[in-house]
Amino acid sequence: MCIHCNYKELLSTAGLDPTDNRIRVLEVVGNNSFPLSAKDIFNTLQRSSNINRVTVYRILDLLVSHGVVDRISTGGRAFYYGLAPNAHHRAHPHFYCTKCGQMDCLSPESLTVDMASLLKTFPGRIEKVEVRVDGICKNCGSTP
Ligand SMILES: [Zn+2]
Ligand SMILES: [Zn+2]
Repeated sequence: MCIHCNYKELLSTAGLDPTDNRIRVLEVVGNNSFPLSAKDIFNTLQRSSNINRVTVYRILDLLVSHGVVDRISTGGRAFYYGLAPNAHHRAHPHFYCTKCGQMDCLSPESLTVDMASLLKTFPGRIEKVEVRVDGICKNCGSTP
């Protein structure tokens, strides 16, 4: 969730026309406190107005390819969408519950990647770092 983000500005900065539908999709992703599936995003948009499912999926792909939105992997087939890091929104790890499939945002400080030492030893170019912690969430019970 980003309370300081200007979605119109984020789109323009990424070189995208800030169309109404793009802004609406980005608002749903950015205003939510945890990552959502494409289906969740579509359902949320449907509640307020009529939007085509294919349109929503296309916009999500576009936002991902322009680095505005991150597609976060669950390790399985499902993907979730969250706001990509930007000036107002710091990169942070995610927690994925393997029982109920809920994904949560963790605080940026909870787990950090030592990029400096990684860059020292890694010969290629790093474009994105995704940190995901898997386990069982509080609601599902921490003991099996
Ligand atoms: Zn759970
Ligand atoms: Zn997040």
